[in-house]
Amino acid sequence: MHAITNSGWVEVITGSMFSGKTEELLRRLRRAEIAGQSVAAFTPAIDDRFGQETLGSHAGSSWQATVVDNDGAGVWDVVDVLDGEEVVAIDEANFFDPPLVDVAQELASAGRRVIVSGLDQTYRGDPYEPVPQLIATAEYVDKLQAICTICGEPATRTQRIVDGQPAHVDEPTTIVGADESYEARCRNCHVVRTE
Ligand SMILES: [Zn+2]
Repeated sequence: MHAITNSGWVEVITGSMFSGKTEELLRRLRRAEIAGQSVAAFTPAIDDRFGQETLGSHAGSSWQATVVDNDGAGVWDVVDVLDGEEVVAIDEANFFDPPLVDVAQELASAGRRVIVSGLDQTYRGDPYEPVPQLIATAEYVDKLQAICTICGEPATRTQRIVDGQPAHVDEPTTIVGADESYEARCRNCHVVRTE
């Protein structure tokens, strides 16, 4: 990414689970750090898979992050705790409420580079707000693919599996700490149970 004006901008890194979103986010943060730019990273309070203050990828790398409340206006804490950092990273954006869109816009308008990573689709294959709104208002969007665990083709969807069965369409969109698992799947192999 390069500056085309003197303003800030928003970058979105999206795709299914296991598509390498967080790894790509961390790669960009490392590049910024090497260039001597200051970085602030944030993660929602809902996600404690890798500890309360670390952005972690499945590949094992990590970055220290500030945990902010994902509900309601809690994401405005991002603006409050910033201390002049040039680059602002927000991981797991799909877990934030809609005010995240306004926060990203405000930070970019104030001259910052904002990098947001998150799922674009729910386990049902529906748009996973607020990520679609971030995509629409961003300057740059990268949609990454995983590999379908069934057929090996590029995967754009996240398959939720509960007790060995595809998840039912009526399950909650977000469940934390429950006994489910996930796979990357292509459109053909992605299954949402309706019966
Ligand atoms: Zn497939």
